[in-house]
Amino acid sequence: MDDYKLILFPDIFLKRKISITPFRDNIIEENLINHMFTIMHQYCGIGLAANQIGLDKRIFVMDVSPFITEEIEPDLADSEHLSATEKEPKEPEELKDISTQHNHEVFINPAIIDKKNIIPSMEGCLSIPGTTAEIERYHNIKVNYYDQHWQLVERDLVGLSAICFQHELDHLDGKLFWEHLPPIQRGILQKRHNKQQMEDDSE
Ligand SMILES: [Zn+2]
Repeated sequence: MDDYKLILFPDIFLKRKISITPFRDNIIEENLINHMFTIMHQYCGIGLAANQIGLDKRIFVMDVSPFITEEIEPDLADSEHLSATEKEPKEPEELKDISTQHNHEVFINPAIIDKKNIIPSMEGCLSIPGTTAEIERYHNIKVNYYDQHWQLVERDLVGLSAICFQHELDHLDGKLFWEHLPPIQRGILQKRHNKQQMEDDSE
């Protein structure tokens, strides 16, 4: 499991479109999925795609429950990863009770079959630490996927769950969130990110 660590932009693996994972692929072992959740929580994210840890599988995991409350409008709950850019990674001991408090969901070979209502979405990404931008996403989507037990699921997602699904599905297609921006705006953001990384590396 130690081989599968969070990979960061500009690693070219993040640009690769991941092919469909074969039915009942035995690589999808419980400990691998658990490892994805551990890394996601370690970096305070609410979603993680397998290729973000170098795994060539069309799978992502999600847990938006920390951000869904009665008081928060789902579409105002900011992004899956926004908090990740503001916090230090958690220590393993802080993670031990995490599976009992959370709503862990696994999506294998996910697809969007219907979508409507474009809304603004302020997003960040665990693979592009420290960078956020407002892009557009669909507020309502109908999706299908296989769950961890290879049961086919079809359901409607709304708000933050829908936004997170679209962000993670983009990862599996080799697309990062800032690719939804116009080229000039994206260029500025990438330059600023690269400069920040160089400054961080030289410290
Ligand atoms: Zn991301």
